[in-house]
Amino acid sequence: MNIILLGPPGAGKGTQASRLEADRGMVQLSTGDMLRAARTADTPLGHQVAAVMDSGALVSDEIVSALIDDRLATLSAEQGTIFDGYPRTAPQAASLDAILEAHGRHLDHVIELAVDEDALVERITGRFSCAKCGANYHDKFKLPAVADTCDVCGNHEFKRRPDDNEETVRTRMAEYRAKTAPILPIYEARGIVSRVDGMADIGEVTVAIEAILDGRA
Ligand code: AMP
Repeated sequence: MNIILLGPPGAGKGTQASRLEADRGMVQLSTGDMLRAARTADTPLGHQVAAVMDSGALVSDEIVSALIDDRLATLSAEQGTIFDGYPRTAPQAASLDAILEAHGRHLDHVIELAVDEDALVERITGRFSCAKCGANYHDKFKLPAVADTCDVCGNHEFKRRPDDNEETVRTRMAEYRAKTAPILPIYEARGIVSRVDGMADIGEVTVAIEAILDGRA
């Protein structure tokens, strides 16, 4: 099964993709994560990608589609995929069709996480994660049980994404509205879009997504 999680930054795509990965053995394909890995390389491409990401603008379609193509080539046919943060533009949606076909796959579902944009800024600007194991936290909604100590691994160092500041978040939202939201009709025309309330509790969102994947919704 191959699915897309679609929604603005902070809608919970990454959180839900990690849960599906753990629950169903699907593979999360996050272009944001791939680009964050690429930007750490001290290469011209790494620096270019870092500058674009820090502004909140979108990295070029060619770069992200190549990342997805390369990653799919490493998977076996039985492994299901969750596209998280890709496609984000109409050309990327067209590339994804071609890439999936080349890998003998097809799209089963596009799940839209519907959210209230004003709440997203608070969600995003408050988020941080364990620098060691990656467990996610939030200044307001999910602090570690013991101050400055990761609940999962006991580490004391945390990190924040450099693009999780209010100004960049506003740009990322605008990019979503202008370039990503318009790709929904492409998938609606194929009858594969389902909408989930992304403002609900994290566990409830997972239950709703699982119901869609199991054909119960
Ligand atoms: P994300 O982790 O999905 O929020 O992505 C973080 C940043 O990486 C975005 O603001 C973009 O600059 C870049 N990015 C991630 N995925 C894509 C994509 N599919 N197309 C273009 N840029 C992307």
